[in-house]
Amino acid sequence: MMSPVDQADQNDPQDMIRTHLAALKRAGLQRRLRHLGGAPGPRINVDGRSVLLLCSNNYLGLATDDRLKQAAQAAISTYGCGATGSRLISGNLEPYERLELDLAAFKGTESSLIFPSGYQANVGTVAALVGSRDVIFSDALNHASLIDGSRQSRAEMVTYNHCDPEDLEAKLKTHAAARRKLILTESVFSMDGDLAPLREICFLAKKYSALLLVDEAHATGIFGPNGAGLVSEYGLQPNVDIQMGTFSKALGSLGGYVAASREIIDYLLHRARSLIFSTGLPPAVLAASKAALQIVLEEPQRRLALWENVAHLRDGLARMGFDTSLSQSQILPVRLGDAQRTMAASRFLLHKGVFVQGVRPPTVPLGTARLRISPMAIHSEDDISTALTALESLQFALRQREKRLQQKSSLVPASENS
Ligand SMILES: *Cc1c(COP(=O)(O)O)cnc(C)c1O
Repeated sequence: MMSPVDQADQNDPQDMIRTHLAALKRAGLQRRLRHLGGAPGPRINVDGRSVLLLCSNNYLGLATDDRLKQAAQAAISTYGCGATGSRLISGNLEPYERLELDLAAFKGTESSLIFPSGYQANVGTVAALVGSRDVIFSDALNHASLIDGSRQSRAEMVTYNHCDPEDLEAKLKTHAAARRKLILTESVFSMDGDLAPLREICFLAKKYSALLLVDEAHATGIFGPNGAGLVSEYGLQPNVDIQMGTFSKALGSLGGYVAASREIIDYLLHRARSLIFSTGLPPAVLAASKAALQIVLEEPQRRLALWENVAHLRDGLARMGFDTSLSQSQILPVRLGDAQRTMAASRFLLHKGVFVQGVRPPTVPLGTARLRISPMAIHSEDDISTALTALESLQFALRQREKRLQQKSSLVPASENS
């Protein structure tokens, strides 16, 4: 697909920028950054007002946990604030090694490697593993970081239908002659909350001798007996070559990771440009991540509290007639289709004291704009009930609006209406 920048025929860059911004505005796709105040707990300050926070990836509430804060503060006292260089030069401070050992044990792999972010972990890893004579098989709804890594690799990119192992197999067969093959999938999809058919995908990876990378960004801390992710929940650690994830979501901190065999990790250390050419993470961040891993292991009750809130919210939404049946996780999308309608719904909820962001193209496919609702383990039952009351008013307002539109269109003669 051509980018808007390539499509624009203006010679003057300023003209191109102006035209592009105007087009975004017309399509209801303009974005702005909101001013968020205070800590991201069950509530947060949005534009000066305290509201319920229902669109954070801080699923377990760890970002504000005292133990993470203390670990971060202690690390600052010992090591200072910055890593001062790439990990391969001067930035590989002590907390890295400890965290990588803990992470490999958590994931059940020989080794692990921490990148500055999940985005960088995907871009660096995918681009290092395949090249121009290879083929990447990528789920149609994969995260932008997997797509950008694929582009950087210069391998041929073949997209298979979302969560469709039959289509994946058909495409693996078509490209059987490729030099190397790499399959990319998320385990919990970030915008739909559905789960990849990992058993089938593992089977196909083996059958067609493809490497398999599973992105556990939204599953880490949430799925699996110890919270290690969906790969662990299904017991598929030996079948997945690369388990990728991030400390920035349920773990409440920052940093991407790859857990894999010692050989793969050693190879990435030599080849992953996003690791080699970027400064290491601050020690405070690594220490907070280590504390978060410990809590995930020791406090399964956090996952239970999250699932209770998810069930409460999901049941309430279903009763109101919102369809969230696709989701099998803590991510509950309410699809409203149209981008402008979705943003109006988000504003409506904010007015009622509930912060839920609308997600629009290009983050999601055209015509599938949605409210992406995600509760946290630290929300109380009352918080969820408050959210449901606001959502009920939203449903009422949406229905009223539809009725008005129908009445209006029934006044127009049928010939003009089609
Ligand atoms: C958020 C996300 C990433 C990137 O992780 P960051 O640590 O935020 O850079 C990668 N993949 C998926 C599926 C994600 O949702």
